[in-house]
Amino acid sequence: MAIATLNPSTGEVEKTFSAHSAEEIDALLDRAVAANGILAETDFAQRATWMRRSAELLETDADQVAALMATEMGKTVTAAKAEAVKCVNAMRFYADNAARFLADETLADPDVVQASAARVSYQPLGTVLAVMPWNFPFWQVIRFAAPGLMAGNTGVLKHASNVPQCALYLGELFARGGFPEGAFQSVLVGGSEVAGLVDDPRIAAVTLTGSVGAGRAIAAQAGQNIKKSVLELGGSDAFVVMPSANLAKAVEVAVRARTQNSGQSCIAAKRFIVHADVYDDFVAAFTEQMGALVVGDPFDDDTDLGPLATEQGRQDVHDLVLDARGLGATVLTGGDLPAGPGFFYPPTVLVDLTSEMKITTEECFGPVASVFKVDTLDQAIDVANGTEFGLSSNAWSTDPAEIDELVTRLEAGAVFVNGMTVSFPELPFGGIKSSGYGRELSAAGIREFCNVKTIWQA
Ligand code: NDP
Repeated sequence: MAIATLNPSTGEVEKTFSAHSAEEIDALLDRAVAANGILAETDFAQRATWMRRSAELLETDADQVAALMATEMGKTVTAAKAEAVKCVNAMRFYADNAARFLADETLADPDVVQASAARVSYQPLGTVLAVMPWNFPFWQVIRFAAPGLMAGNTGVLKHASNVPQCALYLGELFARGGFPEGAFQSVLVGGSEVAGLVDDPRIAAVTLTGSVGAGRAIAAQAGQNIKKSVLELGGSDAFVVMPSANLAKAVEVAVRARTQNSGQSCIAAKRFIVHADVYDDFVAAFTEQMGALVVGDPFDDDTDLGPLATEQGRQDVHDLVLDARGLGATVLTGGDLPAGPGFFYPPTVLVDLTSEMKITTEECFGPVASVFKVDTLDQAIDVANGTEFGLSSNAWSTDPAEIDELVTRLEAGAVFVNGMTVSFPELPFGGIKSSGYGRELSAAGIREFCNVKTIWQA
């Protein structure tokens, strides 16, 4: 893919960028290594000062970066501003909490390991390569960068090729905040160059948020090099609605989940699994509210959904709808490619789905909801677990026994009960099965790229 700002609202290329040359990449990696040395001499308080200053800069620039996001990948400026604020909060969260998360842990009774003292110390690994996607072009990066830098690691960001201006902004932000030159940099290269970066001895570890295909390639490369990797891949999250649920609330959240970021969110609910007793009411209200949303200019305050980020992405979504329709699915709203420029796609509701339809098991990265009718809780859980993914899930019920079953048996990195799945800096985030491994955010996230060093003293 060319490294370019291609405005998805118009389909026009606004700016192109040259990939970094081999010499530029070499110099960039040398700067990262040098910055590791400087960070090793700093303490948490120093890094927290720089992190807070970087957060302040991002806060000041929120309108500017929101416009960048809307222009490069099509999210509404309202959502983009909220994303910038979320990033600022996460930066402050790690500035406040990193020292506590990474404090030495002392064994209460060292005698049991025949020592006079025994402790665990969390030390940085070095330079971590972050391969990131376009869908939350700031948040996905910050949720790696804030804990990474606070742990004392340095970062090299290889951002998605369609958000180069977001990448360049982020590549400068932390140096502007006071971190040493080279502590966090953007490398402009295509996905095909990532393998060479993973091989480079100056890269200690790699984290990816993106597709299963990219995850497989990067994990294989990291494995060849015995380097740590964290993968946050896609999802096809289940949203289970049982008869005892607050239906109006469930419908409202279902609409928001399936259409936020024009449906391009890894952790948003995609498959709605509804008990037969409330199915008709759910489908009627859900279809009405999905159909009423405004698709249009992401810079307009009244717009609910901007365009999809890429033409290919829109075609992939539409192909899944055509496949389902061809095999007998019913389209209750949406489902047609709009005429005109830009990569817009209408909120779409599909019912009468069967297991041979691709959308039943594949991730649909657009505003298309698949609704399934089930007769029992067991059946709901079987349908929910019937994909290769396991990122997050939603359970709607007010029956404690049912909630207990759902929380225990849903195969996912998270279960959100009676509320929308979102990521919080305070809570671990990540998946199981083909949704990846490792965790981001919280104490778990900052420890992923640390050497958990055992220190034993006779
Ligand atoms: P990709 O996984 O292709 O892109 C994500 C990042 O990985 C980009 O920086 C990309 O670089 C890089 N990349 C792509 N292929 C490789 C590779 N073989 N080796 C190393 N790096 C690679 O996602 P797409 O943008 O193509 O989206 C495709 C699908 O992925 C979506 O429809 C969705 O299903 C899923 N996805 C999931 C996301 C999530 O949040 N979990 C986010 C984005 C996508 P480059 O841009 O240069 O190709």
